[in-house]
Amino acid sequence: MTSLFPALTTGPTGRVALRFGDRSLTYAELAAATGALADRVAGAGRVAVWATPTLETAVAVVAALEAGVAAVPLNPKSGEKELGHILTDSAPTLVLAAPGAELPPPLRDLARIDVDVEARGTSGTTPTPATDPEAPALVVYTSGTTGPPKGAVLPRRAIASTLDALADAWQWTGDDVLVHGLPLFHVHGLVLGILGPLRRGGSVRHLGRFGTDGVTRELNDGATMLFGVPTMYHRIAQALPEDPGLAQALGKARLLVSGSAALPVHDHERIAAATGQRVVERYGMTETLMNTSVRADGGPRPGTVGVPLPGVEVRLVEEDGTPLTSYDGETVGEIQVRGPNLFTGYLNRPDATAAAFTEDGWFRTGDMAVRDPDGYVRIVGRKATDLIKSGGYKIGAGEIENALLEHPGVREAAVTGEPDADLGERIVAWIVPADPQSPPAEGELADHVARRLAPHKRPRTVHYLTALPRNDMGKIMKRALTHD
Ligand code: ATP
Ligand code: MG
Repeated sequence: MTSLFPALTTGPTGRVALRFGDRSLTYAELAAATGALADRVAGAGRVAVWATPTLETAVAVVAALEAGVAAVPLNPKSGEKELGHILTDSAPTLVLAAPGAELPPPLRDLARIDVDVEARGTSGTTPTPATDPEAPALVVYTSGTTGPPKGAVLPRRAIASTLDALADAWQWTGDDVLVHGLPLFHVHGLVLGILGPLRRGGSVRHLGRFGTDGVTRELNDGATMLFGVPTMYHRIAQALPEDPGLAQALGKARLLVSGSAALPVHDHERIAAATGQRVVERYGMTETLMNTSVRADGGPRPGTVGVPLPGVEVRLVEEDGTPLTSYDGETVGEIQVRGPNLFTGYLNRPDATAAAFTEDGWFRTGDMAVRDPDGYVRIVGRKATDLIKSGGYKIGAGEIENALLEHPGVREAAVTGEPDADLGERIVAWIVPADPQSPPAEGELADHVARRLAPHKRPRTVHYLTALPRNDMGKIMKRALTHD
């Protein structure tokens, strides 16, 4: 398999490929910098990348991919314990970091290579070694939402196929300029946000830190796309009423994409009302890269994650593993996926890998969904934390969260199930009130949900918090929600 990035050698050499703040690289400069670094890392077993949101991280990962060496992006905000776990697990031989970046103790014993983004040592046309499409290209650790992060081994084939399927679904071309404000050590920010534009021959402008001002500035300056997680779209929705400039800038975008967690319907609608834009939702995982998306050429479908991407098979199965044969928009099943987008396994976890696949190669996502008769997937939540079995019903936490968020007194909401002698499980809501001085009463919230959804979906208990526990992707860590 040749380069994942044809534009490095045959593309628009003078076009800006990457811009981080006031530093940027054209395709020709990127080819030279990655070519020089690829020569230095060639033959290394596996390289860790100290994945700060910088040009150096992008250059390091592309160079490793060009050299046919597997890269392990590290979260620079990881604590020493998590970092120690990842280093022991992934056993890199080298760490690549920006010059001057201070590395914490677990990394200091590793040989270090400083990434020189100005290196012009080679022509940049060093041919990529003929790499097996199944060879590990990246080892990306999962977000750790439900347990300790697991290292997903992603082959080149998965990266190429997922990016090309997204290009089809989003009509994504080299003319697109992406506004990026996500971290670079997960699939969303790294594979979609950096490798995606580079595979298309387009441009990335990274904000360093996400902020609505940066979004406004870049969209006014010709950017065409924004990728974000729901917490970013929530911030946008909150800012819109007082920021007509933001609304106008968003109105110019070609495509706004949300993923990594469910986008509350309320935020989708507030953004649509203020900007005329329908945020496109896609669904993926570290292990599978992208599975489904609303298509740029399809109609708006708030509350759904769209349809299977080209080449990806998606099915829902009942608890005993029987696939659902027709879709009625109501029957909940676990999502299983199969296709060229899948990882090859968890690093050092043959048991977890075996448990994750069916005999005929379907990956068990652990996510529960319903499908509309026309194939659109609506995620109900995770099997482990979001499916509440109460009073003989299976209730998804997500729709109750969406209903709670429509109450003007609620800023953030999470719903969990707790053991209950009568009901099996009882529905518990955790909310952050819009005004901490006058939070909406428990009974009022229960009635609000009962009116909107159904009486058996009302929360039996409401806990009031000042913030929800979230990880670095803004995902709610439900396992950290306890009331003592
Ligand atoms: P861990 O596997 O370590 O517990 P994680 O599952 O959060 O963490 P990721 O691989 O980053 O790690 O996230 C994938 C999960 O994110 C999916 O399984 C799904 O639950 C959720 N997800 C992603 N996109 C969406 C979406 N558009 N709507 C709802 N959930 C989503
Ligand atoms: Mg997961």
